[in-house]
Amino acid sequence: MIIVLRSGATDAEVEAVCRRIEAMGYRAHTIRGEVRTVIGAVGDDRGKERLRSLESIEYVEAVTPILQPFKLASREVKREATTVPVKGITIGGERLVVMAGPCSVESREQVLEVAMRVKAAGATVLRGGAFKPRTSPYAFQGLEEEGLKYLDEARRETGLPIVTEVMEPDKVDVVAEHADVLQIGARNVQNFSLLRRVAETRKPVLLKRGMSTTIQEWLLSAEYVLAGGNPHVILCERGIRTFEPTTRFTLDLNAIPVVKKLSHLPIVVDPSHGTGHWEYVEAMALAAIAAGADGLIIEVHPKPEDALSDGPQSLKPDRFAKVMERIARVAEAVGRRL
Ligand code: PEP
Ligand code: MN
Repeated sequence: MIIVLRSGATDAEVEAVCRRIEAMGYRAHTIRGEVRTVIGAVGDDRGKERLRSLESIEYVEAVTPILQPFKLASREVKREATTVPVKGITIGGERLVVMAGPCSVESREQVLEVAMRVKAAGATVLRGGAFKPRTSPYAFQGLEEEGLKYLDEARRETGLPIVTEVMEPDKVDVVAEHADVLQIGARNVQNFSLLRRVAETRKPVLLKRGMSTTIQEWLLSAEYVLAGGNPHVILCERGIRTFEPTTRFTLDLNAIPVVKKLSHLPIVVDPSHGTGHWEYVEAMALAAIAAGADGLIIEVHPKPEDALSDGPQSLKPDRFAKVMERIARVAEAVGRRL
């Protein structure tokens, strides 16, 4: 249920309503908008009628049900777009975020070189996987903790914040020590114990859509993080499985306007995994920005032919720089900027 307070309700009044909600066995999530404050009361739906009694409080304007199954992630609860702060940059505002870097951290030299090149081209976040979710157990699994140290060094050298994947609840603390944004990969979007653990860190979370996850299921996964007390969720559309074999996945650009309608959370698009081929990355990156995405995550590798993962979809640094110039032009056309 959403408890809408009259405009001008004081902090003490907001607190008092929260206490009453909690006394009824619900969790109270206060969302302060520009005009008024609303409190999302989330918990077991069965007792929700009791919450209606809060309407008798004079500074409560209305108590209304949240119709979507996801609650804190929905536009019903929060009309204004959410922005996620990451080390001095803001994801979800007028400025687009471009996260770029190798699929996997392969060596100190490789990640430092890519970091420097993507920064020079205008990227604002460095990506790089140290723990890699590989389809085959015989494929390169990542440099793990050693890779996290190289990412630290790349941040020191370039000032770029780091997004890197965490795959297991037991590794959340160690990855969170090094990462500025914790990536939840497509294969873990419904790993609910992992979602609960990343919520506890309060660090920004990049939540990739699963390859077979509906938008509703994906937003329910975001709900796990929000309900766990972490409001800093960035959604990432990275392609879904369809019958089409010429691309690795089918990038679902529909998800951008749909998510914007249903949710206040920012959404970025991954045209690298979404297509699986470097030649298609530019077209889909531009299309994503034109469709209203808040940013992109793009794989860049100095020598894609030697990459230990996802070489075929990685851009060389020079091409990435050219793509960035075109992204800037499309951004301007739709009232955004890099
Ligand atoms: C990645 O970002 O390298 C990755 C493994 O992505 P996804 O989880 O979307 O497949
Ligand atoms: Mn990859």
